[in-house]
Amino acid sequence: SAKASEADGLKTLSPALQAELKALEADFTVDGPKLKHISQRFEEELREGLEKNGCNIPMNVTWTLGFPTGDETGEFLAMDLGGTNLRVCWIELKGRDGETVVTQEKYPLAPQIKTGDADALWSLLAESLEHFIDANHLRREDGEALPLGFTFSYPATQEYVDHGVLQTWTKGFDIKGVEGEDAAAQLTEAMKKRNLPVRLVALINDTTGAMIASAYNDPETIIGAIFGTGCNAAYMEHVKAIPKLKTDLPGDTPMAINCEYGAFDNAHRVLPRTKFDERIDRDSPRPGEQSFEKMSAGLYLGELYRLIMCELHDKSLVFKGQNITALRKPYILDTAFLSALEDDTFRTVRTWFEAKLNLCLNEEEFHLSRRLSEMIALRGARLCICGVAAICRMKGIQSGHVAADGSVANKHPQFKARWAQAMGEILDWPSDRKEDPIVITSAEDGSGVGAAVIAAMTLKRVEEGNM
Ligand code: BGC
Ligand code: MG
Repeated sequence: SAKASEADGLKTLSPALQAELKALEADFTVDGPKLKHISQRFEEELREGLEKNGCNIPMNVTWTLGFPTGDETGEFLAMDLGGTNLRVCWIELKGRDGETVVTQEKYPLAPQIKTGDADALWSLLAESLEHFIDANHLRREDGEALPLGFTFSYPATQEYVDHGVLQTWTKGFDIKGVEGEDAAAQLTEAMKKRNLPVRLVALINDTTGAMIASAYNDPETIIGAIFGTGCNAAYMEHVKAIPKLKTDLPGDTPMAINCEYGAFDNAHRVLPRTKFDERIDRDSPRPGEQSFEKMSAGLYLGELYRLIMCELHDKSLVFKGQNITALRKPYILDTAFLSALEDDTFRTVRTWFEAKLNLCLNEEEFHLSRRLSEMIALRGARLCICGVAAICRMKGIQSGHVAADGSVANKHPQFKARWAQAMGEILDWPSDRKEDPIVITSAEDGSGVGAAVIAAMTLKRVEEGNM
C-alpha cells in the first residue's frame, strides 16, 4: 500500500535525519485530548468576545441580519480585495430556483500595493471598477447608481452594514493609512473622484459572504468558514446573546458574527507553538497578532516547511553542498507546493525543486519532504477545525453544513477528511458513525454571490424602512 511504501521510504533516512524527524513529529503532533483542550479555551475566548469590546477574538457584528430567504433578486456589482487578486463581478440574482449569472474580471494586485499607502490601494480599486463597468457597458441611462457589495476580508468594526473601520491588517498586508479608518468611506471617496455611478451598499467579510451565498442555495448552512491564505469563520447569533451590542433591535433578531478567530490565543496559553511558529510571528509585519492563523492558514504552511528545511540544511543534513539561496527567500512556497509534496511522484517533485528552487532533490530528501508536508498540513487542519468545533459547542449546534472556502479547502485534497476526523475527536462522535452530523461542504461564491445577496437583503430592508 501507499502507506507501507511511505514507511519504507522513511527507513532510508540517515540516522541523524531520523532523529530530527522524530523530534519534529513530537512538536507538531496535536492529539485528540489536546484538541479538546484547545477547543474548550477557544469557546471561552469566543464568549468573551461577545461579552465585551476589546477582547482578543473580536466577534465583530456585521449587520447581516439573518439568513437569506432564497427569494432575493436583482443586479449587483461585487468587488473582492483578495490576497493575490482583485476580483470585480456583475451578479444577476434570480432567486434560489433561478440561475445566478456571474460576469467577472480579475485584476492583478501588485505586491507593492500590499505594503504601500491607502491612496494607491483605493485608486486601484476605483480604477478597476471603472474599467469593469465600461468594459461591460453597465452604466444606466438614467444615471442611477449601481449597488455594490464590497468584500473586505480583514477585521473591521461595523456600526452599520456600509461601514467598516479596519482594526488591523492581517495576512501580511501592511498598507499605511487604513487601520483605524473607515474602509467603506475611503473607497467611496476614491469612487467619487472618478465620478463612478456606484453606491456601496454593504461591506462584508469573506466568511459572512461564504455563509450567506451558501445559505442562499442550501438552508442547512450554519457556518461560513475560510481555510485559505487566512483562517476565520462566521455564524449566526441572536442579538440578545451579544451583551456588548447596544441596539434597539428585538432580542431574537439574528445577527451574523464575523469571529476573526485567527487571533485566538494571542496570549499563548494553549497553542503548541514550535520555534518555527515563533520565527514566523517574529518576522511578520504584526508580531503577536493572529497567533492561531499563523499556525494553520495557507499563507504559513509552505513557510513552515521552508524554515525547517533551511535549518536542516544549516545542520548539513539536507541539500548538502548545494546553494540554497532560492529556498532562503521568505514565502516562496505556497499551499499548492505543499500538497504536491504530499501527493506527487518523486519525478514530478524533483522537477519542481529544480525549476522553482534550483535544487537537486535526492530520494532521501523527497521522503523527508513528503513526511514534513504531511505533518505540517495535518497539524494545520486539526488546529483550524478547533474554531469551528468551538462555535458548534458554544451554540449547541448538533448538525448542519459548514460552508468552507479558500485555497486550502479547495486545493489541498486531504483537508476535508482531516477536518472531519478532528471534528469527531473534539465533539465525541462515535467512531462507527455512518454519517457525520456536521458536514463540511464547499461554499458557494461568497465574495461574488454572497456580497450580492447581502446587498439585496440590505436594500430590501431599506425599502421596508427597517434599517
Ligand atoms: C482576516 C479575516 C478573513 C480571513 C480569511 C483573516 O486574516 O482577518 O477577516 O476572514 O483571513 O480570509
Ligand atoms: Mg479571498
